[in-house]
Amino acid sequence: MTFVVERLHSAGTAFSVEFFPPRDEADEAVLWRSIRELEPLDPAYMSITYGAGGSSRDGTIRSIARAATETTLTPVAHLTAVDHSVAELRNVIGWYAAVGVRNILALRGDPPGDPYGEWVPHPQGLNYAEELVTLVRSLGDFCVGVSAFPYGHPRSPDLDTDTKYLVRKVKAGADFAIAQLFFEADDFLRLRDRVAAAGCDTLLIPGVMPLTTPRTLRTTIRLSGAPAPHRLLDRLEPLADDPRAFRAEGLDVVTELCERLIAEGVPDLHFYTFNRAKATRELVNRLGLVPARA
Ligand SMILES: Cc1cc2nc3c(=O)[nH]c(=O)nc-3n(C[C@H](O)[C@H](O)[C@H](O)COP(=O)(O)OP(=O)(O)OC[C@H]3O[C@@H](n4cnc5c(N)ncnc54)[C@H](O)[C@@H]3O)c2cc1C
Repeated sequence: MTFVVERLHSAGTAFSVEFFPPRDEADEAVLWRSIRELEPLDPAYMSITYGAGGSSRDGTIRSIARAATETTLTPVAHLTAVDHSVAELRNVIGWYAAVGVRNILALRGDPPGDPYGEWVPHPQGLNYAEELVTLVRSLGDFCVGVSAFPYGHPRSPDLDTDTKYLVRKVKAGADFAIAQLFFEADDFLRLRDRVAAAGCDTLLIPGVMPLTTPRTLRTTIRLSGAPAPHRLLDRLEPLADDPRAFRAEGLDVVTELCERLIAEGVPDLHFYTFNRAKATRELVNRLGLVPARA
């Protein structure tokens, strides 16, 4: 099984894709159609998020196992510490290993129901992602990723503190970090500069949302934790009632963002697919990220 870092250490910018677990059979069909459509483009890896509840978690485990055994893709399983004892986390990690998943994105997660509510750790659980990185590392030969936040994590008092704890996750054994959504290339590059100034040379990967609908724009604003710049809103908001025009302009915006990130030498562009392949395929083609063998 290939490690993410092996796939990203070659020259040039790769791309990767993120999915969420299916909620029902119809969802599952959509997810697998999308995975099969993206597979021939040879993404560096594919990841599946880890939800807060049992059925969603089963969906992650089932889908990532299928990706590991039935596709040519390099799977990355997300895992959070939410509502899990250390014993349960060990079980999930052991299960990932048993189906051949050797890449784990180790996250603290948010309190279920209210992401900004008080964080209450499981009585036999973990408090921070850093501890999960250490746990995963102690259980075998895994390549471990963590999250990073261009505008700082919403719970961080300031960017210096935020950077300090990100670097601690890397020192605990993380091999790469995927950045939360952001608006301008400079916002990501400032994060990269902060991490480098702290003496850390981890692989830092930008997360990119194809802006195809007003909903994807709202999701980007919510997840980024920052207000969208007027420059972006002025381009997209007037098109909110014209789906075709919004999609065309949104994909132009994202293409420009990605072109700048590629010029800045990022190792990978990590696309949030919303379990659909079309927009990511278009972007990958526009940006010339398709490998010659595809
Ligand atoms: C790429 C990406 C993928 C994600 N995937 C998922 C997913 O699949 N499922 C899901 O539920 N959520 C997911 N999330 C959301 C994530 O779980 C939340 O943002 C969560 O609030 C923080 O998780 P973390 O791993 O960054 O936590 P941590 O790194 O633990 O940080 C949480 C906060 O605590 C601070 N902190 C860290 N360590 C310490 C310490 N030792 N002492 C004091 N303070 C500390 C940090 O600065 C930060 O403010 C994802 C986020 C990103 C960016």
